Parts: sequence; C-alpha cells; structure tokens
Amino acid sequence: MWIDLRSDTVTHPTEEMRQAMAQAEVGDDVYGDDPTVNRLELLASEILGKEAALFVPSGTFGNQVAIMSHTQRGDEILVGEGCHILMHEVGGAAVLSGVQTRSFPTSLGDVTISQLEKMIRGMDIHFPNTGLICMENAHSSGTAVPLETLRAVYRLAKSKNIPVHIDGARIFNGAAALDVDVKELTACADSVNVCLSKGLGAPVGSLLVGGHHFIAKARKNRKLMGGGLRQAGVLAAAGIIALTKMVSRIGEDHKNARYLANRLEEIESCHVYRNRLDINMVFFTLPESVISESALVAGLHNAGIKINGQEDGEYRFVTNYGVSVEDIDKVIETMKRIILH
Ligand SMILES: *Cc1c(COP(=O)(O)O)cnc(C)c1O
Repeated sequence: MWIDLRSDTVTHPTEEMRQAMAQAEVGDDVYGDDPTVNRLELLASEILGKEAALFVPSGTFGNQVAIMSHTQRGDEILVGEGCHILMHEVGGAAVLSGVQTRSFPTSLGDVTISQLEKMIRGMDIHFPNTGLICMENAHSSGTAVPLETLRAVYRLAKSKNIPVHIDGARIFNGAAALDVDVKELTACADSVNVCLSKGLGAPVGSLLVGGHHFIAKARKNRKLMGGGLRQAGVLAAAGIIALTKMVSRIGEDHKNARYLANRLEEIESCHVYRNRLDINMVFFTLPESVISESALVAGLHNAGIKINGQEDGEYRFVTNYGVSVEDIDKVIETMKRIILH
C-alpha cells in the first residue's frame, strides 16, 4: 500500500461506499428519476442550509456552472489572487461563460473589505459589470478564512446587489478548523461548491448548493456543459456516505497534519509554514543543499511514499484518511535516512 501525500483527492472509496454503490437504486437523473441522486441532493441542501443542491461531476464543474449561472457574457467576476478558479481551472470562466476575471489581493485567503469594495465597478460606459464575487474556504494556501470576513464580504456584496459564490471544495475542513457549523459559512454566499471526492473520500463528484431558482438555472447549464448524467445514483450513493459518515472525522486529518508538521521540524533546515496549518495541508521548504527535489521525490517513491515536487519553491504534504500516524512516522524516518545519504 502506497502512502500518498500528494493530495486528499487520492483517497479511495471506503468499503461502505463500495457496498452502497453496488446496491444503489438508480434511475435516469436527466429525467429527475434517480432516487439516490435525489436523496443526495436533498441531504446536501439540508446539511449545507440551502434550498436546493445539484450533483456535478467535479469541483471545477461546480465552480464553472455556478459562474455561468450567476453571470452574463462580458461581466467581470472578482476572485481572490491565487485562488483555484483563477489558477487551476484552465481559464474556464473566459471560455465557458465569456466573463473577465479580475483578482483582488488576499492575505492567505483573507480579504480587506475596503480593498474589495474599491474593485466593484461603478456606472461608466467603459466599465464591465461586476457580476459575481468568489471566495474560497478553506483556502488552498492551507488556511480557513475567518467567518467575520465571509460575513463582511457578503454584506458588502448584498449592498451592491452582487451575488457571492464560495468555492467550498474543502468547506467542511474550513468549518472544522473554525469550529463552526458549516451552515454559518454557507449562509455567507448565494451558492457554494463542495467536493465529495477530496477528504470526504467519495470517488467522484461535487455538489453545488443555492436557492431554488439558481439551482434550476444551474441544472440547465449543467446539461449544456455535458454534465447531465444518467444512472448517477451509483456515484451519489458514495456521496451520501461521504456526507453522513466522513464529515465528522475530518478533524483527524487536521490533527495528523499538525503532527506531521511537528515531526518535519525535527529535520534540520526544514521550515514549516506554521501560519498555514489550519487544515490537512503542511507547507514547508527544504533547501536544495540538504536534499534536491528529485532525490527527495525518488527516495520517498522507492520507499512506497508518493509526494509532489515543489510548487513555487514549497513542498505541500496533504493528510487524508488513508494516512495514519504510523505512516507519518515512516515518512519522517525515510526522509531522515535519505537525507543522510
Ligand atoms: C480541488 C479543488 C477544486 C476542484 O476540484 P476538482 O474536482 O479537482 O475539479 C476547486 N477548488 C478548490 C479550492 C480545490 O481545492
């Protein structure tokens, strides 16, 4: 068995998920006939405190269908610098929705309201319309954005009549880190995208939640984007287990991440970013003079441990339910051994 620290997307479905998938009652979801998808969507709307939910193939899909459903062609959408929608969705907002993306400065996902306010467009024949504000929580930098910030952003947006979307790929990590009910976070947006296939362990799928009218529009846009699935209950069955059985254990991944951080600090010259340790991610640097990137990746790989290479000079190790405390000990012992050589 590999120890895989590359992401929490690498998690395999649990035995219970596989059972549920095998036995799932299905129908044709494009007809609205799949009882398991309907059950998942109802459950998601309840847990996340919104009127309705839509099962979509991926997190990227959920964000993009949300952007399409909130905006008009030629709108400008405001997104945090470095966020997933801006950096990791292949420019989809421009291609699929014909919108212009403009980024506002953030401090690890946190926002200064006066700065954001300045970026909202006024009335001028030259200006595009500000069609949407996007937040991300938990933030990909490894932090949970404070609830007060989300509330302030939503208040500002409402006063300007602009919808807010939260990319909540890891919203349950955010809620656990902030120690609040996830509904407190989702209440700060008109729509939220939630990944089932990261720390929650489902093999496929995300959920987009929002109001009835918005979700009806998103359902049609999902079809336009080719995401109308048929007997999707086979997938939704795993999603139901993800929402009912996997949410409550997500804090364990956070605890393990902090344990991993502590142990990494035993390695000389290893610098862990303590200010970005809210969730299941550990960011650190290890100088080339101690060990080269290629030697570290290859050395760990030979010992059955998968990691990604550096991004912007930093390593990122991600804990998930497939990574135990013993696994972390093995990672550290292996790193110490290959660094000595
Ligand atoms: C993973 C992720 C997504 C997209 O999820 P995919 O299912 O990989 O498309 C979106 N936003 C954030 C913050 C993510 O971490």
